[in-house]
Amino acid sequence: MQESPVCPICGASEWSSVETFVYARRDRPVRRLLPLVKRWQLLRWLARVLLLARPRRLTGRARLLSPHEARLRSVLYEVWFPGQNTVTLTTMYCGRCEFMTYLPRPSAEDIRAKYRYLSDLNPPATGPVNTPSPAPATVARAERVYRLCLKHLSTHPDGQSLSDLRVLDYGGGDGRLLQPFLREGHRCFLIDYHPHPLPGVVKLADDWTTCRDDRRYDVIICSHVLEHVSDPGPTVEFLARRLARDGLLYVEVPQEIWGGLRLEADPVTHVNFFTPCALEYLLERNGLEVVASQTQVGDYEGATSEVFWALAALRRGGPALEIGAAPGEQDRLSEGVPHAGGDLRKLLYPSRRATLARLHRLSRRSVRRGKPKHDA
Ligand SMILES: [Zn+2]
Repeated sequence: MQESPVCPICGASEWSSVETFVYARRDRPVRRLLPLVKRWQLLRWLARVLLLARPRRLTGRARLLSPHEARLRSVLYEVWFPGQNTVTLTTMYCGRCEFMTYLPRPSAEDIRAKYRYLSDLNPPATGPVNTPSPAPATVARAERVYRLCLKHLSTHPDGQSLSDLRVLDYGGGDGRLLQPFLREGHRCFLIDYHPHPLPGVVKLADDWTTCRDDRRYDVIICSHVLEHVSDPGPTVEFLARRLARDGLLYVEVPQEIWGGLRLEADPVTHVNFFTPCALEYLLERNGLEVVASQTQVGDYEGATSEVFWALAALRRGGPALEIGAAPGEQDRLSEGVPHAGGDLRKLLYPSRRATLARLHRLSRRSVRRGKPKHDA
């Protein structure tokens, strides 16, 4: 675990600490009262964002957990801090680029050890598996990404041909976001640990560190990946180098810093927490320019949440990105200065009026769940 890393987005070494979370091995999973416990936790969070509306001075704890949360929590005691009965994590904010993480921060090896441990707890099925068909919300999301990419490719000044695209999904599980591209006859590729890609999708590697493929792609999708990895910079640099001259990179991340990071129950799944500013700067720093971006509320595998997506292309007139260069080993392609607003309090705890409007958007979307809206 890294005690004092630099910001993985902008390289700054100054962090502001925000809140502290303390976890104890004796915190127990509960089954019978769980719905009640969850409701109580939600009420406390609502009180926190509406009434307190500032980082808490007290430590955040969740003593009663679901069995799933208890399994995730055990990563702390068995993998990241072996031998410790209590673990303290402090959430940190980079005022230069608006990125948030927590310290100590897991390294690449810690993240690999986490996945090995969790996969040993729940071994993947062996042999051919029946992949469940994607939820309606996932189908709608795949269609939205497809329409968005096609719309922007068709207006590209270089007149991109829209037939026979080469499309890569980075970290997309079995490749279900590729389905509309498959249906239209485009060539689809996948980099992911998932052992069983959808029929028609060619798996290239587990992740960028093991990928020997040196071809370029017209569309690259990286959806809900960057919040999990220890190295978001080298990951985006790898993707930028695989982008065709007039290709597009679609990146989507959850928006989770609002109301403070909610690490009480699950401190191990996400390690990076982006604002739009932090994500756009990460793209720009790697030779890309954002051509479209949006914050939106959607249904993600059964949970309503707020996400931010950006569509980026190689910067016009920028340096050529050589595929052969190893990500992370060169100076960043362009440094630039992030355009961070910087006011931590406003970012985490906006006005009560803005908070109520946000809650309203989230609750309306929850009610509508099951009838996904086809919004581009
Ligand atoms: Zn930063």
